[in-house]
Amino acid sequence: MEKWNLTKSNDLYRVQAWGDGYFDVNENGNVCVKPNKNGKSFDLFELTRSLVQRGIEAPILFRFDGIIKNRVQYLQDSFAQAILSFGYTGKYRAAFPIKVNQQKHVVDIVRQAGREFMLGLEVGSKPELLAVLAIHDTPNALLLCNGYKDAEYIELALLSGRIGRRPVIIIEQLYELQAVLDTSARLGVDAEIGLRMKPSSKGSGRWESSGGDQAKFGLSTHEIVLAINQLKKAQKTDCLKLLHFHIGSQITAINSIKRVLREATRMYTEIAKLCPSLCFFDVGGGLGVDYDGSRTNFESSMNYTVEEYARDVVSAIQEACNEAALPHPDIVTECGRALLAHHAVLISEVIDVAPSMGAVQDLEDPPSDNQILSDLRNLYRQLSVKNCHETLHDALEIKETILQGFIQGSLSLEDRAYADKGYKHLIAKLKVVSEDLKFVPEDLQKLDEGLRDTFFCNFSVFQSLPDSWAIDQLFPIMPIHRLCEEPKRKAIMADLTCDSDGKIDRFIDLKDVGRHITLHELTTGSPYYLGIFLIGAYQETLGDLHNLFGDTNAVHIEIDENGQPDVTHIVEGDTVREVLGYVQYEAQDLMERLRTSLEKALKAGTLTHEQSATIQKRYKESLEGYTYLVV
Ligand code: PLP
Repeated sequence: MEKWNLTKSNDLYRVQAWGDGYFDVNENGNVCVKPNKNGKSFDLFELTRSLVQRGIEAPILFRFDGIIKNRVQYLQDSFAQAILSFGYTGKYRAAFPIKVNQQKHVVDIVRQAGREFMLGLEVGSKPELLAVLAIHDTPNALLLCNGYKDAEYIELALLSGRIGRRPVIIIEQLYELQAVLDTSARLGVDAEIGLRMKPSSKGSGRWESSGGDQAKFGLSTHEIVLAINQLKKAQKTDCLKLLHFHIGSQITAINSIKRVLREATRMYTEIAKLCPSLCFFDVGGGLGVDYDGSRTNFESSMNYTVEEYARDVVSAIQEACNEAALPHPDIVTECGRALLAHHAVLISEVIDVAPSMGAVQDLEDPPSDNQILSDLRNLYRQLSVKNCHETLHDALEIKETILQGFIQGSLSLEDRAYADKGYKHLIAKLKVVSEDLKFVPEDLQKLDEGLRDTFFCNFSVFQSLPDSWAIDQLFPIMPIHRLCEEPKRKAIMADLTCDSDGKIDRFIDLKDVGRHITLHELTTGSPYYLGIFLIGAYQETLGDLHNLFGDTNAVHIEIDENGQPDVTHIVEGDTVREVLGYVQYEAQDLMERLRTSLEKALKAGTLTHEQSATIQKRYKESLEGYTYLVV
């Protein structure tokens, strides 16, 4: 058989497909990162090792700031290119929706990267507005105000115009319009207003149902007419500047985008005829990320490129405006996922493996002469290609009989242990034997699921990958080293939480969803690190404190002029003291209560003075330590 090599690892983990030029495998068999795609690369495994040596424990969330800059530039270039090639006369105005990742450092990197293009920011709530209002100082850059709005929100948004911001208040519910008109009259500040339409055309993929006529946000056509009449009545039609729509995140099919563009561009031209001040066409977010690298319209993928998306948006609005003899508006996008997903990688160490049982030559002798145990052994011995389907059914029946026998007392603990083990060996043998069948019945195909090792990893799905738990989102996962070695274990991953949902048993696959990931055997004394990739969008703020596992350590990396990774910023993960504080346990109070119990135990003579000192020391240190395992 041909020896294992890097190409085989590349094919197995599909890193070049989903890595999109940012991630690859180097000659040492480690994953490498190329923040500028074609520029210099550095070794992710070596970087992890050096940080762990410096005392930054895994799990570590790496943020590659260069990737964020590259994505911002890429989106900008794609639209600039489309605008140039079509001779479009409006401009492109990207706006970043901070809901995708509100971490200040991340927002700062996006802002800096987009400063020269007047990159705007989009907010969807009052807290987001407060965050952005203070820092968004790029002259003339848009501040798009979406989401539900109360009087405070509207007033602050309007007044932000007086300190150099450029707020556009986007009406998502009809009642907001009167509040905006009244507040702007009271403050003597003219508003720039946008309308969010509710297209009938839906998106595609997981968020398809969030669009369409039943969507939560946006104005129906009838409400848009009412809004325009309201503006006319207030003599404020000239305040109307922007038309917006958003049909959901991760749109997987370009046809859905084309369809909604046909509807929205027509809406734009109709409104622009009535309100010539209209000058921004805002296509919202939704630009996808190819998480599985399959380039299909599967929900973890997308069947189009960013360039194609840009060309479709530009040409659709251009054609509609040309036909209606209207000037070309500036095009606004609110892409978030596509800008941020690639930049963050979580590194988790495997801490243990629960191996699945393989087939054996023969089952050993049963510990007793119980008939059911010898039936099981006979089933094992007589299994062949001809009877394997029938054997499966018999095995399932025996399994149930064994359980009942144990409950009713006819099978001892030792008998049951033999039967459990024997059953697992039988299933493994069935899997091997059934591979020779021409047609494998569905119940035999499913046997695979019971034959996977469980790799226990130092992280929490709920904290770091909430979408994996909540909506079955797939993320690319692979070892970040040992890629010159053949991985042989079919595995699923389990996290540290004591929740049966705290696992990953669905993986990216070219054709479908993979039911296992192939990993290496653990080697004693050497860490085994897995990388979970493309997690930079939406995961952090949605993450929760299940079992009180807190934020992981986060490390910002830039690449220096020699191609070496530069640690520019370390955000230490939550300490135990911090997460306990979130649920109202004060460290000082806990220490005092502990001391009282220690004193009592000392008096009762159940504890020595040394043991008391050890408990206090450990408790104090652990309060200040990481919430994850210190391996
Ligand atoms: N704009 C609005 C109004 C949104 O609700 C969202 C999120 O769904 C976005 C932009 C960002 O979408 P995406 O991250 O898919 O680009």
